[in-house]
Parts: sequence; structure tokens; C-alpha cells
Amino acid sequence: MKSIGLLIELKDGQVKEANFGMATTARGENRQLVALVVDESATDAQTVLEAYGVARIVNIRTGNRSWDPARRAAAVAAAMQEFGIDSLIGLTSPSGRELLPRIAALLDAPLIMDCTEIDLDVHRVKTSQYSGKTVATIALTGGHFIYGMRANVVTPLKAPATAEFIDFSFDGYQGSGYEVIETRTDGSGSKYLAESDIIISGGRGLKRAENFKLLFDCARHMNASVGASRVAVDNGWVPYAMQVGQTGVKVNPKVYMAVGISGSIQHFAGMKTAKMIIAINTDENAAIMANCDYFAVGDLFEILPELEKALAAARH
Ligand SMILES: Cc1cc2nc3c(=O)[nH]c(=O)nc-3n(C[C@H](O)[C@H](O)[C@H](O)COP(=O)(O)OP(=O)(O)OC[C@H]3O[C@@H](n4cnc5c(N)ncnc54)[C@H](O)[C@@H]3O)c2cc1C
Repeated sequence: MKSIGLLIELKDGQVKEANFGMATTARGENRQLVALVVDESATDAQTVLEAYGVARIVNIRTGNRSWDPARRAAAVAAAMQEFGIDSLIGLTSPSGRELLPRIAALLDAPLIMDCTEIDLDVHRVKTSQYSGKTVATIALTGGHFIYGMRANVVTPLKAPATAEFIDFSFDGYQGSGYEVIETRTDGSGSKYLAESDIIISGGRGLKRAENFKLLFDCARHMNASVGASRVAVDNGWVPYAMQVGQTGVKVNPKVYMAVGISGSIQHFAGMKTAKMIIAINTDENAAIMANCDYFAVGDLFEILPELEKALAAARH
């Protein structure tokens, strides 16, 4: 029986939904899923992880709950060796991008980020390249294998199991010079864009920062996240974390709404795999209009307030 490690991410004490697609991908004959939870309350996570087939939960304690990626990576690498895990899957999320390369370096293992498919039997993955223009199939060789998976590419399927719970204390790290001085959030309470099922994004058409409130108002009713084009970010209207595209976040939601966005190649590179694309634009000849499922030709400053009213009414 092969042990496959899952690097589990929690937000506000809850296991993020994006982990379930990862667990679904990892399941297979003669495999046992081992969830690695670092410095979080893993007991709370047990029930949900069991629902997706996790057979072991390793509750890793580093003795330091503040964010120190070097210490956490060392703890995960040590747990992988302790529990005979040769393959580890994590999310291609902000924390995954910090931890997975470090773990790969410690284990001298190959690492592929942003995988859209993973075949754990032959260690072969698919990942998009050149702004999504090509898909690369990469075969890995080595003793350990580290994969960063793109969120939302696999539909999560339940497969209930009973998990064994193991505490693992790690004190083999001397400190990396990291010190967390302050933690800030954007205050929106939104999910990380790549893990959202519904995204409503704004571009130059929004004209100024304050007008993004129109998008946040609609997003609230749809449990959606708010994204942006690079123009909106470069103008300082919204933070970089909200940028969708070639040089921003790559998203794969069920619904993507592009509001006042023309649909440049670089923007498309980040959202073209959305299951449904809806555009709102004054220009019926904008590139986005020819590359979407539904569009509304009109002024977003008239359409969004009406949309918000309709969404609010639909909720009650
Ligand atoms: C190397 C490189 C990397 C890049 N990476 C990215 C990236 O990651 N993400 C990204 O987004 N861009 C990226 N860009 C920039 C990209 O080329 C475009 O400049 C950018 O996407 C355009 O943003 P936009 O659609 O908001 O603005 P515009 O192209 O100016 O489009 C604005 C749209 O708003 C519409 N509009 C205006 N007023 C209204 C209104 N009142 N109601 C409704 N519609 C209205 C207009 O008709 C127009 O279609 C990159 C560029 C380069 C060179």
C-alpha cells in the first residue's frame, strides 16, 4: 500500500474546499491518503477529511504557530520521511507556492506546480504553459515527488473512510530568521481567487477604485470573489492579489463575469478555462464579446445596480 501525502490548507479553522479535489485525484487502488495538517486544529478537520477518503491524519506541531515557511517545510519533509510518504500533493495557492518548493529542495525531489492532471502510478502530470497556449505532459523521476495542483480542476467526490489520528511533534529546526511582524487581510472576506466558484472582475471600464464597490455588492449576494484586470491593478484601484491573467492569478471558476474588461490575450490566459463566461461591455466589438457564453451590451454603471437589486431579491 502506497502512502500519498496531502498538504491540507485550512482557512479560519475550516478545511478549504479546494483540498477535496486534491483528495479525489489522489485516491486509487493500493493507495492510502495521508493528510498532513501543520499547526492547525486537525481534530476539527477529521470528519471532513474522512468524507473524502483520508485514512491517516498527521497532526504536525512545530511549536510555533506563526507563519514560518522554512520551519513548516522542514516539518512536512520530516513527516514524509517518518510516515513513508514519497508523493505529496498540495495546492498551487499562495502558501503552497511558499511551502512546496522548499519541501522539494529539502528532499531533493522534482516539483511541478499548477498541475491540471496527476497520474500518481507513473508520476506523469499535465500543466499549462506559455500563457495557456500549450499543455505540457511531464514525466517525473526520483525518490520523492512534489505536486502543486491547480484548484477547481477536479470535481470533488466523496468516498468515506475512517482515519487514524497521529500527533507528530517537530523540533528539529533552529530558526530561519523569519519573523511575522503583522498580518493584514484585504478585508473583503473573499476566498482566494483561484479557489472561487464564481468570480466577478472589473477592468478599466470601472474608471476608479470606489466603483469596485458595485462589484463587491453583487459578489456578496452570489458568494463570489472579486477580481480585476491588470489595468485596474496598475492604476492602484485594487491590490495585485486580485489580478487575473497571464501575470496574475489563473482561475477556473464555474462562472466568470468580466465587467468593463476588453478581453486581452493576457487577461484570457488567466480565465479562459472558466465553465461559463459572462461579459458586460459598452462595446459590442470588444474581444471578450466573441469569447463568452453570454454578454450584455451596455453601461456597467446602469447594469450593475440593477443586477444587485435582482440578486438581492432572488435571495429573499
Ligand atoms: C506581458 C504582459 C502581461 C500582462 N498580464 C496581464 C494580466 O495578467 N491580466 C490582465 O488583465 N492584463 C494583463 N496585461 C495587460 C493587457 O494587455 C491589457 O492591457 C489589459 O488586460 C486591459 O485591461 P482592461 O480590459 O481592463 O482595459 P481595456 O482593454 O482598456 O478595456 C476596457 C473595456 O471597458 C469597456 N468599458 C468602458 N466603459 C464601460 C462602461 N461604462 N460599461 C461597460 N464597459 C465599459 C470598454 O469598452 C473596454 O472594452 C498584460 C500585458 C502584458 C504586455
